[in-house]
Amino acid sequence: MSTNFSNNKLCIATSNLDKFNEISAMLADLSLRLYDLKSLNITSYPNEDGETFEENALIKARYYFNLCAMPVIADDSGFCIPAINNQPGIFSARFAEPVEDYFKAFDKIKFMLKQRGIEECHEIDAYFICYLVLFFNETNFIVTNGKINGKLNFNANSYNSNGFGYDPIFKPDGFNKTFGEMTSQEKNSISHRSIAMKKMIKKIQNNEN
Ligand code: IMP
Repeated sequence: MSTNFSNNKLCIATSNLDKFNEISAMLADLSLRLYDLKSLNITSYPNEDGETFEENALIKARYYFNLCAMPVIADDSGFCIPAINNQPGIFSARFAEPVEDYFKAFDKIKFMLKQRGIEECHEIDAYFICYLVLFFNETNFIVTNGKINGKLNFNANSYNSNGFGYDPIFKPDGFNKTFGEMTSQEKNSISHRSIAMKKMIKKIQNNEN
């Protein structure tokens, strides 16, 4: 396999500026020309119908590669709670639909735990996971992943904090605040995405898959 960036170009498959900036900062040493989907006028998106994070990351990477004709890096991530069969998992975004209401998603999680006889939701294991795919072509792509373990924390005070998605209810092991209570720098230095990105950069630098 070869980590061959044609014209030094790389598409970061996101329209989210925060995610683009976070990933760009981590890739800075590679001196690539980085593009997000908006700058390439790409507004469509694939049907993420994979059964795993890895499959969905690959679906995204392949889809955008076919639209932009340059190497693509795509991610798929989510929040998992082993006590409820690792849900919400690949349905993390969909748990908060139809109008992206994460308080509803938090209530759904509490309800599911209650159905399993868990009334006291603190100290329940949870983790964030991220799969990254760097796609050069059908036979040449790199996959890495990153996971961060922690505990559920339904402290109402943390609901009005920073972050997005499940950040307010996740306290990473070894820290006494939630992702939502951390600065973005603190969170980004330990997050599932940054663990996966660090592994990816190592593989690119060592030219391996
Ligand atoms: P995606 O991989 O960007 O599509 O993320 C899927 C979903 O997982 C998001 O919409 C969030 O609900 C959840 N998620 C992934 N990473 C994070 C995170 O760092 N904090 C909070 N929620 C996250």
